[in-house]
Amino acid sequence: MKYKIKQIQPYFDSREKKLLNKVINSNFITEGKYTKLFENSIKKFTNTKYAICVSNWTLGLYCCAKSLNLKPGDEIIVPNVTFAACVSSMLLANLKVKLCDINKNNYSLDLKMAKKLINKKTKAIMMVHLFGQSSDITEINKFAKKYKLKIIEDAAQAFGSTYKGKKLGTFGDVGGFSFYGNKIITTGEGGVAITNSKQIANSIIKLKNYGRMKKGNFFHSSVGYNFKFNDLCASIGVAQISKINMMIKKKREIYKYYFKYLNRLKHIIFSEIISHSNPVNWFIVIHTKEKKLLARYLNKKKIETRDFFFPMHKQKCFIKEKNVLNTSDKFINSNNLYNTGLCLPSSVSLSNQELKFITDSIIKFYENRN
Ligand SMILES: *Cc1c(COP(=O)(O)O)cnc(C)c1O
Repeated sequence: MKYKIKQIQPYFDSREKKLLNKVINSNFITEGKYTKLFENSIKKFTNTKYAICVSNWTLGLYCCAKSLNLKPGDEIIVPNVTFAACVSSMLLANLKVKLCDINKNNYSLDLKMAKKLINKKTKAIMMVHLFGQSSDITEINKFAKKYKLKIIEDAAQAFGSTYKGKKLGTFGDVGGFSFYGNKIITTGEGGVAITNSKQIANSIIKLKNYGRMKKGNFFHSSVGYNFKFNDLCASIGVAQISKINMMIKKKREIYKYYFKYLNRLKHIIFSEIISHSNPVNWFIVIHTKEKKLLARYLNKKKIETRDFFFPMHKQKCFIKEKNVLNTSDKFINSNNLYNTGLCLPSSVSLSNQELKFITDSIIKFYENRN
């Protein structure tokens, strides 16, 4: 199917090509000057002390878990509605995963359920800001403090979103972003961990660089691997972040447009925005009982949509996995959100004409059904 309107695509202009060419012409394409430049602009953007680029955010999450000195067999609470890498990266770090339902109105962790999951072995909690929408950070922080849990903050889908004026990704002990091709800013593949703790930062630097702080020597103080970034990707990242304010503005306009024309339809529900937060909606998601029919209808008009996250407790790979602990057979909210959730086209490059075509089509779909 050749779509007229893609669900998501990156936003490139001449800047990416120019900087990428510079790196190629310099004959130095592994991790170097541009990676530093990119890390520095992320530190500045998020107002954090340390930013460490890694090959991708799945490995970034693994590094986060290792950097918190969690022991094999320790338990981490992970939202049941997210991308599967949140669970698999914790398994890679030898942790046991306790899946927790999310609230039906705002996608934030269901802390009533989380409370029931706590025992002596529970040492951490993962806070994921789904689709760019802030979790209920104040409540999750209180919860984590009460039960002495470390927080890994997965802001992969929330680059630029804020809570109480502070960037998401900066509220946990360690957090970070993905720069995969469909994320808010992209480097093709890549990720970054951010933290204000020197100890955590050093631990991640060593993990990604064969167990040493610097390149170019053969002294390894701890067991490490190679999750390094590279300057080809970094040059694209530097170009992307140089226009982040414009991209955020456009993303917010797209959300406002959809909300204005679709929220008034009685068949469509938008997720609630946590107060004091200002999201950058990665994907704009609507909830409707007719999601499958609507997706098919839009597909016929060559408008691409994407499914909502299929809950983790139903994933074949995790059902048989002994380190994903069986915490519930219900997960009512996860199931309902999956059954109704549909991701609409959300690219920065969407024109007003395209947006109008999409919303008009959706409005027409419901008119025909009345
Ligand atoms: C994309 C994503 C990841 C994985 O990031 P990669 O860079 O693709 O490995 C992890 N968590 C969430 C919430 C994501 O959206």
